[in-house]
Amino acid sequence: MIELDGSQGEGGGQILRTSLALSVVTGQPLSIEKIRAGRAKPGLMRQHLACVKAATEISGAQVDGAELGSQSLRFAPGPVRSGDYRLAIAGAGSCMLVLQTVLPPLLLAGAQSRVHLSGGTHNPMAPPFHFLERAFVPLVHRLGADLQLSLRRCGFYPAGGGEVEATIVPAVGALQTFDLMARGAQQSAYAECLAPGLPRHVPTRELETLGGAMGWSGEQLRLGAVRQNEGPGNALLATLAYEHVTEVFTAFGEKSLSAEQVAHGLVKEVREFQKSEAAVGPHLADQLALLLALAAWQGKKAGAFTCSEVTEHTRTNCAVIERFLPVRFTIAESRQASTVRVAPA
Ligand code: ATP
Repeated sequence: MIELDGSQGEGGGQILRTSLALSVVTGQPLSIEKIRAGRAKPGLMRQHLACVKAATEISGAQVDGAELGSQSLRFAPGPVRSGDYRLAIAGAGSCMLVLQTVLPPLLLAGAQSRVHLSGGTHNPMAPPFHFLERAFVPLVHRLGADLQLSLRRCGFYPAGGGEVEATIVPAVGALQTFDLMARGAQQSAYAECLAPGLPRHVPTRELETLGGAMGWSGEQLRLGAVRQNEGPGNALLATLAYEHVTEVFTAFGEKSLSAEQVAHGLVKEVREFQKSEAAVGPHLADQLALLLALAAWQGKKAGAFTCSEVTEHTRTNCAVIERFLPVRFTIAESRQASTVRVAPA
């Protein structure tokens, strides 16, 4: 039994998702106390329960404590079962976080899986669909596995109702680790505004403000293809494709923010990344840490990447991964680019 303190480090829902995923991957039962203890609404929220349910479905786990608000959970998985799954979150909880939970085990399963996900596809504090499709999927391919994502319908807070189809094909043999130390030369940069159900002037102002600040124009400023009934919703995305990696940064519209403020928030995030020499930004860093750890464990070979910022979130994720897999992380921080290395223990 792996016993975890859910309030350690960053103390958020990521501890739960990473530990559920790795409990299924390794077959080790898991017990977590003080789940999200420091948060305004502590314990399991609907979104986290959906992740527990999804991990249970793919592994036939025995579970105790899977209730709204619960701060402790016991989870004893069976072997991962590839197959066809429909995983839904009522409302607008992020279905991309549900995918984050089931992906590692299904990537290591004996056969292909197809997962139909429904809920939110573009949520604050979760990986948006386009981030996973453009930034994350190519890294899965570099491991030697295949992941195909297709967006059937966007889902925004508060209505939800988004739909995503994921096809997951495990690697033949062990996952291959790699080093991603530099982003390489820039190949393209563009912005896209998804704003279903909002007046046209909102995306136009967001794109113009972003374009003005970044020096982007014409084809680089795009109104994303959305249906009006997918709204209301507002996500402004900046995609930067480099020789070795693609990064996607996202800002979300809120009632209390002007279109210009949304755009300026995104400009700040993109500039932080551009200013560094790192291969990946803070969000891709914590998601890549898990992928490389799985590959280092399976392939018995170290992998590394550079990132613009090592967040408390990334550190916590690395600490949780080390509890389940025989790997060790070494983090060397530097202003220009910090290095995260993961090696077999
Ligand atoms: P809590 O409410 O307990 O803080 P949570 O379950 O909502 O937690 P986090 O622990 O904050 O979630 O984890 C969010 C996940 O979403 C992380 O993997 C993070 O990297 C990812 N994420 C958040 N924002 C973005 C973004 N803009 N682009 C890509 N990934 C993102």
